[in-house]
Amino acid sequence: MNTIVEVIDENNIDGKALETIKKAGEIIKNGGIVAFPTETVYGLGGDGLNPESSKKIYAAKGRPSDNPLIIHVADMDAVEKIVRDIPEAAYKLAEEYWPGPLTMIMNKSEVVPYETTGGLDTVAIRMPSNKIAAELIRQSGGYIAAPSANLSGRPSPTQAKYCIEDLDGRVDMIIDGGPVGIGLESTIIDLTSGTPMILRPGYITRENLADLLGNVDVDKTILDASSKVAPKAPGMKYRHYAPKGDLTIVEGEPGDVSKYINAEISKAKDLGKKTGVIATKETEKMYKADSVKIAGSRDDEEEIARNLFTLLREFDDEDVNVMFSESFNDTGIGQAIMNRLLKAAGHKVIRL
Ligand code: AMP
Ligand code: MG
Repeated sequence: MNTIVEVIDENNIDGKALETIKKAGEIIKNGGIVAFPTETVYGLGGDGLNPESSKKIYAAKGRPSDNPLIIHVADMDAVEKIVRDIPEAAYKLAEEYWPGPLTMIMNKSEVVPYETTGGLDTVAIRMPSNKIAAELIRQSGGYIAAPSANLSGRPSPTQAKYCIEDLDGRVDMIIDGGPVGIGLESTIIDLTSGTPMILRPGYITRENLADLLGNVDVDKTILDASSKVAPKAPGMKYRHYAPKGDLTIVEGEPGDVSKYINAEISKAKDLGKKTGVIATKETEKMYKADSVKIAGSRDDEEEIARNLFTLLREFDDEDVNVMFSESFNDTGIGQAIMNRLLKAAGHKVIRL
């Protein structure tokens, strides 16, 4: 398949850009699939109400078909059509956080095909704030089913070049809208059973949600690999975000961590391996790896979140085979950072 690549400036959706988005909308209405920017990561979109489109998305990504897709909408009317009985909490959350990086799980109505929900009777819904995404949703009939626009298992794409790397020849079109702002996927909250439960942590934190809703549970599998219970978001059970090399997280006092990592790096170098470290502005100079990446400042978790997937992809580009990362706080946005990092490392953690 020939993949069309088009560049659009989110802050200047002029006549030409609008034409491009309309063309992408037509592709989706006709059952095709298009990668596009959102504020979290790039998505791979098809018509969420068309079972054939959802099948195409799974095939292009190599994604297991029991891993449901998120339907992206541009207004509340659209939500009313695809949900049976919208709970009060959903209106509250929408008022505060939509458009934005929050996905809500509700009971689906009959119009949503099981191909989109991975066979579930519930549906995940998000209203993105990215202007290209919002316009594309309007131009494609109102319901874009979209997972992240990467090959299944790889880090989610934060720039169009990574969509091209993974999906060129596998999708109809890729819209390049520049680097994303947030860099981690949306927070997912399940509103279908009793106390609202966070199934995937993200930019909107547990603390944010509890402020608005009172009691909020967190799926215990989010940070704990030893749990025997399956995660409630089917996608969270799969290996994910993995760089091609071997990543280990090292936890402890900064001095001990750098000493341990440098010793391991020296061993790996003796074996002819290329080595990498995910460090912070504060600790960067302490490491002797071939490639030392600064995730950001420890005081700025948003910066670390924004950089994480990009760093993992860069290690791949540089053919790094052995990587270590410092550990981060697991509160606030740190919960999402640690969730993604633990998955990328296959839960390999050294505690000093
Ligand atoms: P992605 O769009 O690639 O970030 O993946 C979407 C995530 O949402 C996956 O982890 C899915 O398992 C999760 N998800 C989508 N729909 C549902 C649902 N109805 N119930 C629980 N989790 C869902
Ligand atoms: Mg994904």
